[in-house]
Amino acid sequence: AQARAEARAHESAVTRDGRRIEVFANVGKPEDADAAVAAGADGVGLFRTEFLYFDNDHWPTEEEQYEAYRRVLEAFGEKPVIIRTLDIGGDKQLPYAQLPVEENPFLGLRGIRYCLAEPDVFRTQLRALLRASVHGTLWVMFPMVENVSEFRAAKEWVARCKKELEDEGVAVREDIPLGIMVETPAAALTADVLAREVDFFSIGTNDLTQYTLAADRGNTDVASLYDPLHPAVLRLIRMTCVAAEQVGIPVGMCGEMAGDAELTELLVGLGLQELSMSSAFVPLVKERVRGVDTRMARAKADAAAAAESPEAVRAKLAAVDGAGT
Ligand code: PEP
Ligand code: MG
Repeated sequence: AQARAEARAHESAVTRDGRRIEVFANVGKPEDADAAVAAGADGVGLFRTEFLYFDNDHWPTEEEQYEAYRRVLEAFGEKPVIIRTLDIGGDKQLPYAQLPVEENPFLGLRGIRYCLAEPDVFRTQLRALLRASVHGTLWVMFPMVENVSEFRAAKEWVARCKKELEDEGVAVREDIPLGIMVETPAAALTADVLAREVDFFSIGTNDLTQYTLAADRGNTDVASLYDPLHPAVLRLIRMTCVAAEQVGIPVGMCGEMAGDAELTELLVGLGLQELSMSSAFVPLVKERVRGVDTRMARAKADAAAAAESPEAVRAKLAAVDGAGT
């Protein structure tokens, strides 16, 4: 199966009933972009920009960032590259940043909250992104957004930086989609409201699972509770997909769950149109998509979301598999 998957890695992933699913790669460093292209990724679903900030002893300059973004955008050309703005705070601290000491960092100043509180940091990154936009197909994504105001504020910063650059005579692409990570229960529960504002969603199941189940993603004592197959998480994912579908915006997933080939059918059934994962998983997930029948997948997903526990979800997934083939 792996050999066949590798052989077809550069073909698009289309379900048996003709539904195209974009299979994207998560990229952590610009150097990973070539591996992602080689693996057959249809685009980048999550470029985590944190490396620029961690592998440094100073705030990365606009120029340093521009070079990094440009490299990834050029590697993918016409294919979309979703670059996420700085997702700092929580468990991710920086030695040179004066982050506040918080009792509950995961419930504190992280993601978009930090960037809106530190406009200089945000502005530098946005200018670098906008400058790089002419070198490929850039989509910009904001992390940890949980209400419409945060998104509007971020969007205004983009407009301001674009105006600045244009006044300086620097070219910027016109059509840059702006989207959000759906990674808090609040965002998922109000996805219908957010969907009217944003250009796309990407579900971050690593955080969505942690916040929904109140189980720290890095705490081994509660590792057995931290389970993305909990029906509560599945319902939030489905809710987000339904909201996106209703207004016709793309919805993807970039948490670890997206790379689990055992879950591909379930995820297509929940309504995801794009899955983003480590490059290594791209060929196999594409091959799994080719075996999916959307109607059956929907039924399976509905049964999973209605199950009483993660264990019951696993049992249902296994059972329907046996019955269907
Ligand atoms: C997520 O939360 O699922 C996600 C993809 O973001 P990160 O793992 O970087 O928090
Ligand atoms: Mg996250």
